[in-house]
Amino acid sequence: MRFFAFFVCLLISLSLQAKEIRIRLLKNQSRLVLTGQDIKTPVSVDPEERVEIRLLKGSSGAKLSLWSFNHKKIFGDSLEIEAQLLQYGQKSLPPKIHIKSRSNGRFDVLADLDFEDYIEGVVVGEMPLSWPIESLKAQAVAARTYAYYHLQNKKYKTFDLDSSQMDQVYRYSESPNDRLSLAIDDTKGLILKKNNKPLIGFFHSDCGGGGTDSALSVWNTHEEGSSTTTCPFSPGLQWTLQVEAKVLGESLGLDSIERITIEKTSTSGRVFLAEVQDEKGQKKNFSGSELRSHIGYGKLKSAAFKVIKAGSLFLFRGQGFGHGVGLCQWGARTMAEKGATFQQILRHYYHVEASPETELAKPILGKL
Ligand SMILES: [Zn+2]
Repeated sequence: MRFFAFFVCLLISLSLQAKEIRIRLLKNQSRLVLTGQDIKTPVSVDPEERVEIRLLKGSSGAKLSLWSFNHKKIFGDSLEIEAQLLQYGQKSLPPKIHIKSRSNGRFDVLADLDFEDYIEGVVVGEMPLSWPIESLKAQAVAARTYAYYHLQNKKYKTFDLDSSQMDQVYRYSESPNDRLSLAIDDTKGLILKKNNKPLIGFFHSDCGGGGTDSALSVWNTHEEGSSTTTCPFSPGLQWTLQVEAKVLGESLGLDSIERITIEKTSTSGRVFLAEVQDEKGQKKNFSGSELRSHIGYGKLKSAAFKVIKAGSLFLFRGQGFGHGVGLCQWGARTMAEKGATFQQILRHYYHVEASPETELAKPILGKL
């Protein structure tokens, strides 16, 4: 009987445990100066003092070291720091961080975050909070779906998701915001599912007006992330990029580029396959997504482009910003302005509405 009571207590405490997600806040650091209040580290430091983390190379490999005033303490491969108002330059960090050294002689900064607090930080990082509330809710569901999918399908070894555009942008914020709380609370535990399995929840800034593409046609993978739709709501950002043939060649691992031939495009016009030839006659094939990765995601803003050669320059002309799969953030904004609910927005871009995920809808300790 006593054992049974213990077992019931264990089950209740497990169900009340907050779901956490491990996020990489900063990567490949060699020196990090942190400021905060009430700083706690494994060694005693003046709580109002700044601390500096460096990686010191010694005969037995690189070790993390913590410097504070004129103290120095050497650690092994990891280090935990807690503080209020923890900051790195202008960037606010969550109150508890883990620092982990990497095999490349640098270190990463990680944090274990409450799952819903993390989703809140992604909405802050991904969409202006002044946008219509229904678009913020749609963003929250997309972000929650992406995170939940990747908790189940591991992408990295030492953490769950990166806090950059490589996954979804996370920004820690101390200041409460009513609109943000509403977007999170009204969608709490809701994710996108098909055949009872979570979708990947891809989203992007602006499809450019030509509609969205399937994950399969952009990355040739993630069949389950497939969804295509028209997007008459997009403002259709137009952009141009000029690159010297020689510079382009360096980015693509070739000599000066002679010719770019677009071989295949997706249904909505994104470059799916391009053949690139340099002046020595070497040829390489790239997907639109690979070209963006080599040239820079901020420069070649999307794969919806045409390209011509003018003298020694290549001129790219394109529309939109981002990979073009899943929710179009600017399209969601326009739909919400026209009166669409977050469920209508999600149905448009993913062909399903958000539904509760039992594991995420459980009551969370401290938030009952
Ligand atoms: Zn769009």
